[in-house]
Amino acid sequence: MRHCRNCGTSVVYRVPDDGDTRERAVCPSCNTIHYENPINVVGTIPVLDDRVLLCKRNIEPRRGKWTLPAGFMELRETAAQGAARETDEEAGAHFEMQDLFAVMSVVHVGQVHLFYRARLLDDVFDPGHETMEARLFTEAEIPWEEIAFRTVRETLRLYFEDRRFGRFERVHTLDIQ
Ligand code: ZN
Repeated sequence: MRHCRNCGTSVVYRVPDDGDTRERAVCPSCNTIHYENPINVVGTIPVLDDRVLLCKRNIEPRRGKWTLPAGFMELRETAAQGAARETDEEAGAHFEMQDLFAVMSVVHVGQVHLFYRARLLDDVFDPGHETMEARLFTEAEIPWEEIAFRTVRETLRLYFEDRRFGRFERVHTLDIQ
């Protein structure tokens, strides 16, 4: 953060005098303390039989790379609603939401990624402008070198591992520094 959201003055980073222990963006003019906290990214692993739906990104970063449908959670929606919304927006898929599958803290970018499993009802997709192409991949077909983000790669790896063992019993947690 560079400028105060309240009055526009340049902020300074310092530990506030109220007993806080971390540096915050403090406005020297109106004294507002701006707290910055991690952002939630929510998405799905949409599956039809033995195939997973991936979307080819039409936007930066990582344009042209493949990803699971996911995006920033909005206010006034639950995590699962956000994941479903992103799946609808990015793939135009018909699906049924299932359980939470993975929670990943991506510490260096200040994000928490949550992925839910989703059961596809058919293989008809209508991707939005953020997606060049939406298609299904078997495990053998997954373009591992062309996956856009590490959390997506890890989620897919864990998904196929659970699938091989025939169980989805626990939520996976992973910390990425
Ligand atoms: Zn201010």
